[in-house]
Amino acid sequence: MTSEKNMKQNYDSSDLPAPVIIPRAEHTISRNDLDREALKVLYRLRDAGFVAYLVGGGVRDILLGKTPKDFDISTSARPGEVRKIFRNSRIIGRRFRLVQVFYPGNKIIEVSTFRQRSEYDEGGQEKVLAANNTFGSPADDAFRRDLTINALFYEIENFTIIDYTGGKSDLENGIVRLIGDPERRITRDPGRIMRVIRHAARTGFTIAESTWDSLKANMGKLDLCPTSRIRDELFKDLQGGSSQAWLALAVDSGMFSTFFPFYAELLEKDSAERKETLQKLSSICGVIDRLILEDQAVPDRILFALLLLPWGEKSLQTLQVSTLKGSYELSRKVRDLLNPTFVKLNIKKGLQDGIARCFATLPLLLCHDGEAKGKEWPKWLQKKSYFGDGQLLYKMYQEAQGGIKVSEMPLSSPKGKGSVKAEPRKRTGSPGSHRGAAFAKGVKGGVFGFRRW
Ligand code: ATP
Ligand code: MG
Repeated sequence: MTSEKNMKQNYDSSDLPAPVIIPRAEHTISRNDLDREALKVLYRLRDAGFVAYLVGGGVRDILLGKTPKDFDISTSARPGEVRKIFRNSRIIGRRFRLVQVFYPGNKIIEVSTFRQRSEYDEGGQEKVLAANNTFGSPADDAFRRDLTINALFYEIENFTIIDYTGGKSDLENGIVRLIGDPERRITRDPGRIMRVIRHAARTGFTIAESTWDSLKANMGKLDLCPTSRIRDELFKDLQGGSSQAWLALAVDSGMFSTFFPFYAELLEKDSAERKETLQKLSSICGVIDRLILEDQAVPDRILFALLLLPWGEKSLQTLQVSTLKGSYELSRKVRDLLNPTFVKLNIKKGLQDGIARCFATLPLLLCHDGEAKGKEWPKWLQKKSYFGDGQLLYKMYQEAQGGIKVSEMPLSSPKGKGSVKAEPRKRTGSPGSHRGAAFAKGVKGGVFGFRRW
């Protein structure tokens, strides 16, 4: 008896609409677009008698003509069954167990069992569902997903796309739409607010009206998400190469001021400062995106400090700071002022130190502007452990102000101290980087210290 039969016996999806099957001739996905190992996994599951589809971002990105970051597979096989088929695999996760299949070159294909809708979204108050309540039919699995464009399945029997939720037409029409009732979907998982904005920013698609209204109305619910998840998702967005588009949507929806409440006044609708603040933030994000798309690592501390600059200039008159002592005081002050934000975003102490240090160093570099005057930087500044970070920040800031492009990296001081090495960015899908954990770990703070002045 195949597992498909099993599913038909065990799961009632009769309330769900039948899918639209898009034949091979009517879509652009070819087997050649799929990762070889992902294909192998699909075939081996099929040969073992299970149903298996390519799902999620992989299908979406191929249809958009992009190279997917990772390939996820959903199957009727239970985690234990998948584990038996692939010797090179391990089961991870507690509540939602899934299997990672390992291939040479640090490649990981994630295989999850079709999940029920109730997992996230049906009525009932249960916080933790029993393990045997987790599995579902393909239809369930499609409807429990976040966006219609993320819920398409590609199968390898007839090479068709299976579309339960209208994802194909939303892809063609450029629409980001939450599946089902947006109020309920956001209430059950407010983190989806961030996912809607992320995917709209990345694709340039329009957010469906009801999805947009619901996310704006429920913005406060982001406070209910674990702070570590918010932090991870936020850095994923800032490090994703579409931060400029993300910023526009985040400001417009109110999400930006939810994360960075100290900007609320400067970004208030109709306020005199809004246009200027937005313009400055947008230019900064433009530089961040440019570097990231060129595969240059921008450490989280620099990225975060950059986002603070327009606020700092207006609210803390940072540009007037010109002495080491002044910079030190600014660093302390900004840490105190930002403490509630750091707590809310679960920013660890080391990163807090780094952000404050970078933020307070920029004014020093601006007033001792060695480069602009064609001189060398003062020796005492070059010797500082944070000089390398400061230089990168300085160059990015200058480029955002309409100056020349951040020329070349690595940026290093003549003293060879405190240089920020340009490292290739870590990509998602690499070993150990699991879903949701895709944020830059490329450059660590240790070398630059920040423990000492
Ligand atoms: P990326 O390109 O960033 O990997 P993705 O859409 O593949 O984008 P993942 O985080 O890898 O995002 O998630 C894989 C799939 O799991 C999504 O496409 C979506 O179908 C589903 N998913 C992820 N998060 C949620 C969520 N919060 N609620 C419902 N479905 C989700
Ligand atoms: Mg993915």
